[in-house]
Amino acid sequence: MEVSIFEDGQLAKAIHTRNKEAMKEVLTMGEFRIGDRESKEYKYFKKVTMDAFYKATQDLFESLERKGILIKCNCGANIRQKFNPCSLCSGAGYCNSEAFTRLIENVAPGTMYNLSGENNETDQTEILDVN
Ligand SMILES: [Zn+2]
Repeated sequence: MEVSIFEDGQLAKAIHTRNKEAMKEVLTMGEFRIGDRESKEYKYFKKVTMDAFYKATQDLFESLERKGILIKCNCGANIRQKFNPCSLCSGAGYCNSEAFTRLIENVAPGTMYNLSGENNETDQTEILDVN
């Protein structure tokens, strides 16, 4: 049975885990097309693919950090490390900020609300007190 990728609510961990899976799928397709994992062509393809995926993920984490959603994880992980046992980030290097944790704690799946604060018809504290 597949375990839900966002079960513990850690956003960076979920993004990193899913992006790595997508990257592996792309690498497998490249290997299938190029044929030889030891060839210069495949090694170049692998480097360019991994650089693109890791840069995209890192850029996203940095944007989410600037928005106050993520903070750097205390484990000091870097997304390019092969394996990291940290339960908070699984090597993503980021985990949820306290503010984001509080925000998602009491949000039932499917809840819709406006985070921008503009044209809010419902007071946000009401929504957070639903449970
Ligand atoms: Zn960590």
